[in-house]
Amino acid sequence: MCWVIVVVAAAVAADASPGMPGFDAALEQVVFDGHAADAAHQAESTVGVRGDFAIVDAGVAGAGPGLVVRAPSAWGETSLLFNAPFGDGLVRARFRVGDNLDHALVFRARLESAADASAEVDGGYGLTLEHGLARLVRWEHRIPRFLGSEQKLEPVPKAGDVVEVVVTAGGPWLQATVFAGATMTRLAHLAVVDRGFDAGQVGWRVGRNDRGSSLLFLSVANTSPPAVPSVRDLTWDGEVSGAGVDRLLTLHDVDVDRLPLDLQKKVTVREGGLAFVATDPIGVERVRRAGIEIVAHKTQMPWRHVDAILRTRLGKPPTKTSAGFRVDESYKDETMVADLLTAYAERFPKITRLVELGRSGEGRRILALVISKNANEAPIPGVRDTVVHRPAVLLDAAHHGGELLSPEFVLDAIQQLTERYGRDKDITHFVDGAAIWCVPMVNVDGNHRYIWETRDYDRKNARDVDGNGRVDGWDGVDLYRNYLSGWGGLGEIGSRSWPYHYRYRGPEPGSEPEIQAMISLAAREHFVASIDYHTNATKILVPYTDPSMENPDVNEGWVIAEEIAATLPIQVNKKMYEVARNLYPVDGTAQDYFRSTFGTVALLVEGPQNNPLPYDRTRNANVIPGRGIWQGLLRRVIEGPSIRGTVVDAAGSPIEANVIVSEQAPKRGEQWTARPRDGFFQRLVPAPGRYTLIVKSAGNKDVIKNVDVGAGPLRVDVVIR
Ligand SMILES: [Zn+2]
Repeated sequence: MCWVIVVVAAAVAADASPGMPGFDAALEQVVFDGHAADAAHQAESTVGVRGDFAIVDAGVAGAGPGLVVRAPSAWGETSLLFNAPFGDGLVRARFRVGDNLDHALVFRARLESAADASAEVDGGYGLTLEHGLARLVRWEHRIPRFLGSEQKLEPVPKAGDVVEVVVTAGGPWLQATVFAGATMTRLAHLAVVDRGFDAGQVGWRVGRNDRGSSLLFLSVANTSPPAVPSVRDLTWDGEVSGAGVDRLLTLHDVDVDRLPLDLQKKVTVREGGLAFVATDPIGVERVRRAGIEIVAHKTQMPWRHVDAILRTRLGKPPTKTSAGFRVDESYKDETMVADLLTAYAERFPKITRLVELGRSGEGRRILALVISKNANEAPIPGVRDTVVHRPAVLLDAAHHGGELLSPEFVLDAIQQLTERYGRDKDITHFVDGAAIWCVPMVNVDGNHRYIWETRDYDRKNARDVDGNGRVDGWDGVDLYRNYLSGWGGLGEIGSRSWPYHYRYRGPEPGSEPEIQAMISLAAREHFVASIDYHTNATKILVPYTDPSMENPDVNEGWVIAEEIAATLPIQVNKKMYEVARNLYPVDGTAQDYFRSTFGTVALLVEGPQNNPLPYDRTRNANVIPGRGIWQGLLRRVIEGPSIRGTVVDAAGSPIEANVIVSEQAPKRGEQWTARPRDGFFQRLVPAPGRYTLIVKSAGNKDVIKNVDVGAGPLRVDVVIR
């Protein structure tokens, strides 16, 4: 028996009919069944009992007979372990609630002393249902430790209600689903990883508050040999599983005609002698019962099977228009993004240049389109990739490969900046006044995996963390936690050291080629301002997001973000963009790195929705009302109050001096230096007024200038002699 079959069994529990739908004796071994004639005997086949249980044959209508607590143990909790070992596989149980929901399904459990059948459960796992919450718990020496986050049961089962729970386990990966017994609608779903116990008994534990509750049914399916967990069916650490109910079946193409008609309509792709069917657990069961061979069965089906609009566009070149190109036809894989950037560079050669920043772990190109007046000229002999004496601004997206909406914000900016240049006064001003680096897709490998292979680990890149020679579901690094500053500084809160974790920070700071590419770009350009796009919180996040990093007393980034947010309309999700800092604990981020290393006003924009569908009705509704963010930031850099200029020596050579506005000086010794290649610097200030500019360079006296900044940029050139 393989793990996939266990998934089928788990899936059957999602059937909307009451009772025990789709139970398959070939898969599941009954441990206790209140209906069975030998129920009493079953109840006796326990390895540990604390308290007094009895079989009753008159349950609440429809619930059937069950095992009830006749007398609770002295200190209230009542438990029993059945003589049914469980390691990897599935456990299913039905309970009827007594006075108050307060009981637990126990699994992989053991007694304190095997010799003492009345001993308390010493160690093991439980799915506890109490106080309206579902929680996964690990007991060690009787002490409970809650794993992951709790889930509210909605609605909370009441006295007399029947509840069904299904637990699946494979190695350290545990997940549990709670259903309303009458309708089999899902009430909660939990998933964690824990390495405490790999096998033990199954059982039932009743809290002191739940008098009269009864166990109706308990079954176990052990995979044998113990399953290598299918990573496609599990997630971890308390975050609600994205495994969901969607299933992708791979069948032989010749079998499509044998499928029920409605399932034939769910065939998404036919290629290479195979056919893919996007369905749900019930569909899987129907295919199986039709005797059709299932070549592969997984959840987290890759995005191309979810998104019919994308399927019509994959592999096609950009669509030309009179002004440029369509950028709003579908979500995009990394090839479509590269094709668009190339097309724009060819069509607008005077104001754009295509730059390869580096290669991803799997060798894909990480591309930037730099947009600026005369971008393709070579202003310094021998140095091509530069635009001198102009502020550089970065718009990037998709550090998290599965955030498909995020590149759309940057591609929209590219379209606006190129196609409306020379026609729109503001746009022309932006392109003439700044070098705008557009990097719509940082995590090209993650995007590829999300669209083509699996939506597991949607955020991570393609590092083979377990070194098994291939990139499978648990691999990858969370690129947004791999930057140099504050890397891992918050311990196991802001990011994780465990390689399989969703938020794995990587083996060392800046370990990932994608991040190395971004770091060397930033080191060359010293961005004055940047926006890193993500989804989906409808927030503009301001550094420092790491609470251990102290901001300047006047955090001009915050002031500017507030200014911008105030200009924005209500968004598609009926929310306004809010400015926030430290939305959740996170370390090793791009924005803190850019801020701490270069003084960049580094904003992170969490767009309103995550990968909304259908694309043609949601994309522009998300992207267009957010244009004011990048436009507002560019306007602020080009037209707003600031101090800019160059630092050079007597011979005119640039000096990498530390340039500080003392009213908003960094607090932890950050060195915010002029740009190495041309000595350019620009410091945005919160408002017009008098400021003190301090220029520090090694071996030279500090240059201190009191300056009056008006409504726009004040030019201050410093020559160090
Ligand atoms: Zn993200």
